[in-house]
Amino acid sequence: MSGGIQGKVHLVGAGPGDPGLMTLRGRELVEQADCVMYDALVPRTMLGWCKTGCKLIDVGKRADRHTVPQEKINELLIDCSKRYKCTVRLKGGDPYVFGRGGEEAEALQAAKVEFEVVPGISSAIAGPAYAGIPVTHRNYSSQLTILSGHSAGDKEGISYATAIAKTLGTRVMLMGAARLADTMRELQKAGLPGQTPAAAVQWATTAKQVTVKATVATLAQASKQAGLSAPAVVIVGDVVKLADQLEWRQHLPLAGKRIIVTRTREQNETLCRMLRELGAEVAELPTLRIVPPADKQAFAKAVVNSPHHDWLVFTSPNGVERFFEAFYTVYKDLRELGGARIAALGPGTAEQLKKRGLMVDVMPQKAVAEELIAEFDRKADEYGGLAHCTVLWVHAQKARTVIRCELEKRKAIVDECIAYDVAPGNADYGKIVLEEGADLITFASSSAAVYFRQMGLELPKRCHVASMGPVTTETLNKLGVKPQVEAELHTIPSLVKAITQWATQSPS
Ligand code: SAH
Repeated sequence: MSGGIQGKVHLVGAGPGDPGLMTLRGRELVEQADCVMYDALVPRTMLGWCKTGCKLIDVGKRADRHTVPQEKINELLIDCSKRYKCTVRLKGGDPYVFGRGGEEAEALQAAKVEFEVVPGISSAIAGPAYAGIPVTHRNYSSQLTILSGHSAGDKEGISYATAIAKTLGTRVMLMGAARLADTMRELQKAGLPGQTPAAAVQWATTAKQVTVKATVATLAQASKQAGLSAPAVVIVGDVVKLADQLEWRQHLPLAGKRIIVTRTREQNETLCRMLRELGAEVAELPTLRIVPPADKQAFAKAVVNSPHHDWLVFTSPNGVERFFEAFYTVYKDLRELGGARIAALGPGTAEQLKKRGLMVDVMPQKAVAEELIAEFDRKADEYGGLAHCTVLWVHAQKARTVIRCELEKRKAIVDECIAYDVAPGNADYGKIVLEEGADLITFASSSAAVYFRQMGLELPKRCHVASMGPVTTETLNKLGVKPQVEAELHTIPSLVKAITQWATQSPS
């Protein structure tokens, strides 16, 4: 494959850890990339944004692993530019803030490889902000110095420390955890008062965030007691005084919780957003993908023949989406569908219909096929029964036959429209997400649980399980899993409520 291609390399900042802190341009590139080369501090959940078939290269530096030397990374990047049109070099924080991004850009430029730089939110800024510390403030500091903790130990250590001690305002130190005690001592020796406020924030913006507030004289000891180690941002200066007053995150109900959300990416949006707003670190793990039905022609035919049925029955939100996607490739106007009555299973399905301007006539309280039939019976007088009515049932490839059988028993003429199938998600990505562990994993449907197992995935140790309701719980039980959390109603808000209650009972 090599040769011929003149690809472009994008040096992209992944932000400090919270995936929501990635730039729009960065996300767009990760979604388009043919190859992504990433570091240890890059949030793994971002790899789930990659398209299928994207080549993933881990050049992460971890203590327990062989590190890839910088020269090798530079070479790899140049090599990738000849193999892939779009290579994303994903780096924690900002690529040019102590990320050696400058060296990578130099290597690319020397090799005449086109490149782009997408800045990211540096941990130097985000770390303090998530700990309630504004790096500048009119009353405390109008200067900001960002420094590396490594350099403080260089041969010119003392003069460097002297320079830092003499700077005004806020000093933010990255890579400073390992030599924290030495650095704090050197700064004091160089004249910085021991009572200067200082703080360290470990794993900033993630569920594992820990903040230690002290002074230059006491920070090393206090951090040791708190078990704090790399990666941490160290902040020295008067602005640290504001930390208690301006703390905004740690009191959120789900702060400190890492929650893995299974099912499809499309279906997870609301759940993920709600959990993030409550302070959780959320990692998506799509256990299933929506794919076209086995017989695409039959699906197309069913859509062409869909107008002028007496009833349309939709049993899933995906069915509604796929049906209308296909409908509008054939027809231009919703009115061509005719004046069918509509039945739906589950509030999500009704929601999808409502979005398209369609109200539901029959919907059971509980999203179960048998209940839908019972609801049809209850309302039979209103609409005059099902005998000789034409019904189009839009559903997934693997659906129970109850609906067809029961409708036919009531003398309806049932046409089926198999609109989609589900396939397991990417197991390799699943394993990467699970490696980091979690406090809770959610299963919002039975199929999410079944496919989780089919992908060969195992629950992380000490991880609790949340289920959407009795049906999902039953499936989980069959798989040998006992959920600790169960939604009262079969809805996302109800699941979120149950998770919030769980969090108050399981402090981090
Ligand atoms: N380019 C990165 C910094 C790379 S150097 C950026 O702009 O953030 C690696 C150092 O960054 C770590 O040693 C640590 O000091 C800091 N760091 C990165 N992510 C962090 C996080 N989530 N919490 C605390 N410190 C972090």
